[in-house]
Amino acid sequence: MITGSLIESFLICERQAWLMAHQITPDQDHPYLELGRLIDEESFTDEKKKISLENMIIDLIKTENKTLILGEIKKSSKVQEIAKIQLAFYLYSLKNNYGIKADGLLIFPKEKRRVRVVLDKELEEKIEDTIKRIEILIYKGKPPLPQKIPYCKLCAYREFCWS
Ligand code: SF4
Repeated sequence: MITGSLIESFLICERQAWLMAHQITPDQDHPYLELGRLIDEESFTDEKKKISLENMIIDLIKTENKTLILGEIKKSSKVQEIAKIQLAFYLYSLKNNYGIKADGLLIFPKEKRRVRVVLDKELEEKIEDTIKRIEILIYKGKPPLPQKIPYCKLCAYREFCWS
């Protein structure tokens, strides 16, 4: 099943997405994962309502002027475009699987920033294209070879790929 985490991984590194999709688990003690857990646990406790729905985990859900808002908490806006696609995938899944229309909100607690995400036609096409590309990738028998990218030094698969 295509999930939000898989979309995020795919847009960072296709090898990472393949490894995730094939349940090859990364190093659970990696400091980057720990940082993610801490931000996840300590941010926005007043309005946080984490919910899981088959292929998505939504950090925050609320209404604003009768519009349903899904919030996604992120460590840094350096990967804002990727975070936007991941959140748009949640909006797309809600609309197509449950008939629920919602807007998105990207939340960067460390930077005290919030960015609204609206699912328009262009974004929907981007999601559909990304899903197709992920399906093609994960049906391959082997992962793509590792490629050194700046993200490797933060990646929990680093030892797996490079030792
Ligand atoms: S270490 Fe680098 S090549 Fe390996 S999965 Fe992570 S990002 Fe991809």
